[in-house]
Amino acid sequence: MDNRTTTNRDAERQWKCPWCGSEALNKTSIVMPDSRACDCGAVGIAAPRVDSDEIIDAAIDYFHVTTRPESRGFDALFLQDIQRSGIEIREGALTRNLEAPEFWATIRHLWFRRQKADDNAAEQEKECR
Ligand SMILES: [Zn+2]
Repeated sequence: MDNRTTTNRDAERQWKCPWCGSEALNKTSIVMPDSRACDCGAVGIAAPRVDSDEIIDAAIDYFHVTTRPESRGFDALFLQDIQRSGIEIREGALTRNLEAPEFWATIRHLWFRRQKADDNAAEQEKECR
C-alpha cells in the first residue's frame, strides 16, 4: 500500500552529504520516512516534497527538538525551532520516484546536522575579521 520507501539504484546515489560530499551509507533510528546518516554526523531525510512535514517531524523527533506550540502546522516555524536548538539545515538532492503518482513523484532530501563546538568557534572567528 505504501511504496514511498522503495529505493532503486538511482535513488541510492542521491544520498550525497551536503556538508562533506561523501555518500551517506549508515542507517538511522528513523523508521519513516527514508533516511541515512553520514560519517560526519549529518542525517538526511527524504520524502515526497508534498510531504515535507514528515521530514520535519522526523527531524524534530530524532534531535529531540523542543518546539513552540504556535509552530504546530507551520513547517517554516518548525524549521526555526530546529535551527534554534543548534541544528543546521541544508537542502539536498531533489529526485524522482518514477513508481509514484506524479503528485508524490518529486522526492526532497533535507539534511540536518548538530552544530559542533568547533563550527561555532570557526564561525565566530570569521565574523571577527
Ligand atoms: Zn557528511
